[in-house]
Amino acid sequence: MAKKHLIIGCGSAALSALEKIRSIAPDDQVKLVTMEDCPPYSPTALPYLLSGRVSEEALWMRPDGYFDDMKATLAKGKEMAKVLPASKEVVYQGGEREGYDTLLIATGSEPIHPPIEGLEEAGFIGFRSFSDYRSLAGRLAGKKRVAVLGGGLIGMEVAIALLEKGHQTHIVEKESRLLPLYFDAGAEGLIREVFESEGAGLHTGTEATGVSKKNGAIILGLSDGNSLEADLLVTAVGVKAKTAFLASSGVKVNRGIVVDGAMRTTVTDIYAAGDVAEAPGFFDETGLNPILPSAVAQGRAAGAAMAGQPEPYEGWLPMNVFNFFGRMAFSVGLSMAQGGNFEVITASDRKAKSYRKLVLRDGRLVGAMFLNVSADPGVFVYLVRKRLDIGAYQRSLLEKPREVGRYLMTANEKKEATVIE
Ligand SMILES: Cc1cc2nc3c(=O)[nH]c(=O)nc-3n(C[C@H](O)[C@H](O)[C@H](O)COP(=O)(O)OP(=O)(O)OC[C@H]3O[C@@H](n4cnc5c(N)ncnc54)[C@H](O)[C@@H]3O)c2cc1C
Repeated sequence: MAKKHLIIGCGSAALSALEKIRSIAPDDQVKLVTMEDCPPYSPTALPYLLSGRVSEEALWMRPDGYFDDMKATLAKGKEMAKVLPASKEVVYQGGEREGYDTLLIATGSEPIHPPIEGLEEAGFIGFRSFSDYRSLAGRLAGKKRVAVLGGGLIGMEVAIALLEKGHQTHIVEKESRLLPLYFDAGAEGLIREVFESEGAGLHTGTEATGVSKKNGAIILGLSDGNSLEADLLVTAVGVKAKTAFLASSGVKVNRGIVVDGAMRTTVTDIYAAGDVAEAPGFFDETGLNPILPSAVAQGRAAGAAMAGQPEPYEGWLPMNVFNFFGRMAFSVGLSMAQGGNFEVITASDRKAKSYRKLVLRDGRLVGAMFLNVSADPGVFVYLVRKRLDIGAYQRSLLEKPREVGRYLMTANEKKEATVIE
């Protein structure tokens, strides 16, 4: 009998689940529900929209008519408030109820608002959704000086857009390095130089301790004793899984919704995928991994299981690509690992502003980081996921990552094809 699959959310995880369900169960009913009133989009494009590099049309992830073609329905502007597993229903804001056979929670993440004295009163904007983009774009008019709290990926991408638009931009990051989760000191030093040369004010190793207003300007007190004046404040200090609606549902939530390798939660017929899910990792650990490739892969795994044909999920792998002022940096896998039985090889060229790093364990590539070097992040994801022994190729892979990476990948593909034959 045809099932009813209810998907809460309409981001990358939700769409990839829909596409997987449809490929397995052409006659099942699939309904997606989003609290937003716009077409499905990926937040990764929002900084480009802010800078004016892309137009609004480029934001939408699927063409008009997509949901009809997929024989699915999309309900916009509906916010799920509660899940009732005993009756297999969800409750929306306003009290309306809806039943399901399987339920996927793909509600993503929401910004963390730092508990800083005076922040609410002074006014600030987070940057996570299309409506955040709209309010930031609207409030930027006539504002010259912008302070960004948080030097992680989102804060840095917003800062790039602001600098490109000609705003005097300051970034405040409590850790000693920018992008502390993704790049080590060798790479960060070069990223820092580029940002400084683009006019960014960088305040690392210091925290905002209080916010006040004076003559219309926002005054940010910093823990190093200095203060910063701005016309607008953007906060980007991190995100948390969006799970408040699960209180008293019985679905286990740690930092995110706990799921197994088929994206099953602790309650039968309820699944979770994407930023909201705490899923198994490639290197054995379980946790959140709020990045686009993980949302897509987890959505696919959830869709397969919901349609009754679970597929193996390889586990999430850290993977971050950072494009800045015509340059590209990326890190993959255990790129920060050191000590123990990790072997780390690096090379940097200050003049070319480039940085290279490979991390190996027992001769196998487990992590990589490159900045301003011709290399393909997707190939490095492949090499790490295949746990390839690259012993003899270490140096050449470091020096010619694009060519040698592709060679290793192709050679392995041929080997695997021969074994299958
Ligand atoms: C500015 C920015 C830049 C980024 N850059 C990168 C990058 O360069 N690389 C990268 O890999 N990742 C990046 N990310 C992260 C990436 O966008 C996310 O990992 C990805 O979008 C997660 O997809 P998702 O489907 O889990 O959630 P989302 O895409 O956030 O979708 C969540 C959906 O749930 C809906 N929803 C939420 N709560 C409810 C509710 N209660 N009821 C109904 N609907 C609800 C929302 O409306 C939305 O449709 C960036 C994120 C931001 C904000």
